[in-house]
Amino acid sequence: MKKKHTEIEIEKHTARCLCGKITIEATGPAKYTEYCHCKWCQQVSGSAFLPLVVFDKDQVVVTSGKLSHYNSSHGALRGFCRNCGSTMSFQSAKSFDIALGVMDNPEHFKSSKHIWAKSRISHVMITDSLPRFDESDE
Ligand SMILES: [Zn+2]
Ligand SMILES: [Zn+2]
Repeated sequence: MKKKHTEIEIEKHTARCLCGKITIEATGPAKYTEYCHCKWCQQVSGSAFLPLVVFDKDQVVVTSGKLSHYNSSHGALRGFCRNCGSTMSFQSAKSFDIALGVMDNPEHFKSSKHIWAKSRISHVMITDSLPRFDESDE
């Protein structure tokens, strides 16, 4: 059978905050997804840990609204919606991470690791067998 010429499909992923004012679009596959157990992620999310979908900076654009930022550590910007308070993103020099919970298709992004496991809240049970790193593995 002759192969039909097919268009190259480029993956697109969208995210939005609770109130919908901010939408973000990422083009192409994520590098990976991780669960971060650091204290800063616990505080900024109000949760036991923060799952982050990691993209290269040039893959991500804010398509509506404007992210507000908090500079939580050297070179790290945490993005949130000033209107509804949603935790949206984590930007470092090399990456633009989007919080899994604001992704429109969170089922697509399976985590591959736990980082900052040394500050994990011990009574939050993790039953997966993913690698756990005491700190960041990078
Ligand atoms: Zn919002
Ligand atoms: Zn963290």
